[in-house]
Amino acid sequence: MTNVNATTLIVGSGIAGIHAAETLRAKGYGGRIVLADRDSSLPYDRPPLSKEFMLGEVSEDEIALKTEEYLQELGIELWLGEEVVSVDSKKQSAVLSNGKTLEWDKLLLATGSGLRKLPVKGSELNGIYYLKTLADANAIKEKLKNIEQVAVVGAGFIGAELASTFKKLGKEVTIIEWSPLPLAHILGDEMGEYFLKLHQSEGIRTIMGDSVTEFKGDGEVEEIVTGQGKSIPCQAVIIGVGVMPNTQILNEELDIERGYIVNEFGETSLPNIYAAGDCSMWPFLGKHISIEHWDHAMNHGQNVATNILEENSTPYEAVPYFWSDQYEKRLQYFGNSKNWNRTLIRGDKDEGEFSYFYLDENNVIEAALLVNQPRNAISVRRLIKQQKPVDLNLLSDSNVKLKKCVADA
Ligand SMILES: Cc1cc2nc3c(=O)[nH]c(=O)nc-3n(C[C@H](O)[C@H](O)[C@H](O)COP(=O)(O)OP(=O)(O)OC[C@H]3O[C@@H](n4cnc5c(N)ncnc54)[C@H](O)[C@@H]3O)c2cc1C
Repeated sequence: MTNVNATTLIVGSGIAGIHAAETLRAKGYGGRIVLADRDSSLPYDRPPLSKEFMLGEVSEDEIALKTEEYLQELGIELWLGEEVVSVDSKKQSAVLSNGKTLEWDKLLLATGSGLRKLPVKGSELNGIYYLKTLADANAIKEKLKNIEQVAVVGAGFIGAELASTFKKLGKEVTIIEWSPLPLAHILGDEMGEYFLKLHQSEGIRTIMGDSVTEFKGDGEVEEIVTGQGKSIPCQAVIIGVGVMPNTQILNEELDIERGYIVNEFGETSLPNIYAAGDCSMWPFLGKHISIEHWDHAMNHGQNVATNILEENSTPYEAVPYFWSDQYEKRLQYFGNSKNWNRTLIRGDKDEGEFSYFYLDENNVIEAALLVNQPRNAISVRRLIKQQKPVDLNLLSDSNVKLKKCVADA
């Protein structure tokens, strides 16, 4: 049982922060929990912002993560609109933007990730947006009411989802992406081609291998000019060119690569300071990786809270997972693979339902992409966790159960 006079400060009330706070209480933490966020909206879920919320299918209330009353009942203090501006790791205290100081016994950094910006000429024009917050989503929704042509810069997951959403809303959509194929840096060229054709078959204008050099307009954006001299007329631009973990806090003192480096218990390089979710880099199968996705943020927040409460009790071993919805396709990606040795398809791409595997030199599955095949999710997760070589002939045969594909099974 914890000391009731102890304080845990959680910076960030996103998925990781909220789940950490709830887990602390659920597991019997008796001290004070302060959940501080610079955003002034009640905690909400981000994935619907590019999908159901943008489409008008769900309301703000429906994407709220927790109500104020619920958090009050749990004795979780929610400090909204309050940014943690500095932390003293020796005195174990934090200063907030309103001048308040808080002393803590444990600090959890759950600061998420920030958006990469595209600082080209004309970026200050009205009608150019990024999407991260509820306020961003509301501003884009409002703008869409009165316009026809939308340009999406970046064909990553958010860009692709937005293109799909805008098309459903009846807009004329152009995607501009600097790499020749969308998502190829994560999913490989074959899948990049698949997703390029998917956009095109849905009537999206795709400009690949080109970049934005200027936004033009008179106060409002009217046109994009690309490096190859193309001109794209548009009344709104949404930029989705990637994210970077928010690691401004204790930047000089902590071990940081892409995110805060943590061990399997979520501890950073400083005592009593933890990190979880998008802002962290954690060990998975011998490497430190960063995953800026929902499922990881939730699992990691819960796991790190457990380790705050019962020190070093529960190593984090979840297989990374994320999903994305594009047009009528549900993509699910499990594992993590950057330098796969080979890929293998199970099912038929043309039928729009298949699983695509990324394997190492020993035919061990490092990662898998499922397209409209949620039924394979549990088996795929298990295969990745097992880290055993698979039989490629069996794996490519959709009639063979996935659990029968392990080479020596
Ligand atoms: C539009 C959109 C769609 C998405 N769709 C999907 C999807 O389909 N599938 C999927 O797997 N993932 C998706 N994601 C990603 C997913 O939402 C994130 O991975 C997840 O929200 C990360 O949770 P987090 O708690 O680590 O960080 P965040 O949700 O980013 O929360 C971090 C919080 O910390 C706060 N903060 C930061 N610094 C400070 C500070 N110094 N002081 C106080 N507060 C601070 C921020 O205001 C923020 O509220 C999507 C993200 C977006 C933006």
